[in-house]
Amino acid sequence: MTNPGKPRIGVLAIQGDYAAHALALTEAGARPSEIRKPEELAAIDALVLPGGESTTMLKFLEKRHFFEALREFCARKPVFGTCAGTILLAREVRNPAQRSLGLLDVVVERNAYGRQIDSSIEMAETALPGGPLEMVFIRAPRIMEIGPGVEALAFRDGYPTLVRQGNTMAATFHPELSPDRRVHGFFVDLASGADLYPSGLPDL
Ligand code: GLN
Repeated sequence: MTNPGKPRIGVLAIQGDYAAHALALTEAGARPSEIRKPEELAAIDALVLPGGESTTMLKFLEKRHFFEALREFCARKPVFGTCAGTILLAREVRNPAQRSLGLLDVVVERNAYGRQIDSSIEMAETALPGGPLEMVFIRAPRIMEIGPGVEALAFRDGYPTLVRQGNTMAATFHPELSPDRRVHGFFVDLASGADLYPSGLPDL
C-alpha cells in the first residue's frame, strides 16, 4: 500500500448516488474508487453501498453473479450501506419482501414514510459528538427491528436511522448529501480499525 494512512474505500457504482459518496469519502480522508465488477473488490479495504433503487441494484447483482462475491466481501470487511444500501444489507426486507445480503441484523420496511412525506430533512442529536446532525431522507426505508448485536446511533420518531453492528454500518438517510462529514468520518475510522468510542458509547 502506498499510503497506509488512507483506507481504500470502494463505492458500489451500479446505480444511485455513488459519485456524492466518493466525494464525501475523499473529504473524510479516504481514497475512494468506483466498484462495478466483482474482481474490483480485491483492491479495496472497505465498501459503501449507496442509496438509489435497491431492486435495480439487486437485478444487476444477480445477473452478473456479483451477489455472492459482494456477500463474501461484506461479511469480512467494513461496509456502510445508506438507504437502498441498508435495504441490501438487511436480514429481512418488507413492503415488498425482497432478497438481501442478510448481513445486518435488522428488519427494514421500504418506502415507509408514504407519499406525503416521502422526502424530508431532519436535525437530530446522535451518538456522534459535535451536536445535531442533518439527516436527508429520500423515499427512505424504516428500520423496524434491530437484533441484540446492533447499536442504534441516531433516531427519527423512535426508529433507528443510523446503526452499527461490528464492522457493518447503515443509515436510512443520505449523509453524502449534507456538508457535515461526521458520518463518513466515522466510517473511515471504522475502515482504518480506529477505536470509535475511546471514552465509551455516549448516551442519546
Ligand atoms: N426507495 C428506495 C428502495 O426501496 C430507497 C431510496 C433511496 O435509496 N434513497 O430501494
